[in-house]
This record gives sequence, C-alpha cells and structure tokens, in this order.
Amino acid sequence: MKMVFIGPPGIGKGSYATELSKILKIPHISTGDIFREEIKKESELGKQVKKYVEKGLLVPDEIVIKVVENRLKKEDCRNGFILDGFPRTLNQAKALDRITDIDLVLNFTAPVETIIGRISGRRICRKCGAIYHVKFMPPRVPGKCDKCGGELYQREDDKPEVVVKRLKEYEETFKPIIDYYKEKKILVTVNANRHLKEVVKDCLKILEEKGLLKSSGN
Ligand code: AMP
Repeated sequence: MKMVFIGPPGIGKGSYATELSKILKIPHISTGDIFREEIKKESELGKQVKKYVEKGLLVPDEIVIKVVENRLKKEDCRNGFILDGFPRTLNQAKALDRITDIDLVLNFTAPVETIIGRISGRRICRKCGAIYHVKFMPPRVPGKCDKCGGELYQREDDKPEVVVKRLKEYEETFKPIIDYYKEKKILVTVNANRHLKEVVKDCLKILEEKGLLKSSGN
C-alpha cells in the first residue's frame, strides 16, 4: 500500500507514520529525516541541502525528487511505503506520479493553536531520531531518550521564528497539492486534533474501508 501523508509541519505526521509503519510493516520515508541524516553525515547531499533545511526553506525540487526516486527503488518498498514530507509542491506531486502509483493520500488537519503547541514542545533524539513532546509525549527522564538514552534537542526549524515561516510556506504550497489529489479521488482528510492512538485507529479504519489492508496482505 503506497501512501502519502500530508499536513502542516507539527501536526504529528511523523508520529502517525512511525506507528502505522510498525503495524503495517512498510517503511516510513521522511524526506526531512533523510536530509537531517545526510547533514549529520556531512555527505555531498547534506552539504547541498543544509542551508535550506536550517532556514526552514524548501529544498529545490530536482534534489528532493531524485532522493525520493532512489529511495522508492529499494527492496523494502516492495509492499508499499508511507511518504511523509513529500510531495511538498505540485511539481513534486506530478513527479511522484511518474515514479509510481499512489493508493491513498491522508490529509491531517487540526486548528492552528493545536499545531503551534505541538511544534514548540517537540523534541527529537540526537542519536536515534525518536520523537517526543515535552507535554503530550514526555520522555521518562527529561532531556533523555527512553529508547537509547540519547540527548533530546529542539530542531532548529521548530523554533518559533522559523515555524511561522514554515506555516506560511505550507499554506501557499499545499492548496494546489490538496486539490490535485482531491481531483484524483485518492485524498481522505483525517482529524488530527485528537490523541495519537485515536488518529492511528482512524487511519486503519480508512485503509480497511478502502480495501487496502487486504491487498497488501496485512
Ligand atoms: P520536515 O522534517 O518534513 O519538516 O522537513 C524538514 C526540512 O527538510 C524542510 O523544512 C525542508 O527544508 C526540507 N524538506 C523536507 N522534505 C522536503 C520536500 N519534499 N521538498 C522540499 N524540501 C523538503
């Protein structure tokens, strides 16, 4: 089952994708995670994208599309995948259609106040990338990852001044993408203004209704 998750930064896409990826046994592919990993490794790609990612600006389409195309060719994607953070422009959505056929697009929505609250409290493990929230999903020991003991940090682009820019950019770029998938009749809106477990349950219900759970053997 080939899925795309869309929604504003901070809505919790990453957390829903992580949960569903475990349940459905398909990879969670986050372009943001790929870029952060490459920046950490100081690879050629990392050097190219660093200036965009740290300022909360979109990485140029030709770079992102190539990265996704290569990732989707990998063996672990044969039963499907969850794309999180891609496409982010109409051009990327059209490029994705040339790469593969998407079964379902889940569009996560919540009021703006909910989104701001989620972003400002988000913390990420420096070592394993696990996601926490100081209020809604706190680690057992403040500042430390439950899974690996790594140090938790706030992403540069989760800081308020960058968040405002990202939300504005999101609104401008996503309307045509949402319209594009609506027209293709593969978009379903999910109310993300609820507890993580409720949202995940809802996603599974949608997959079942669409007959996608059976077809992938899950
Ligand atoms: P994310 O973790 O999805 O919020 O992504 C973090 C940053 O990575 C974004 O602010 C962009 O700079 C970059 N990025 C991730 N995905 C894309 C994409 N599909 N197109 C352009 N830039 C992206």
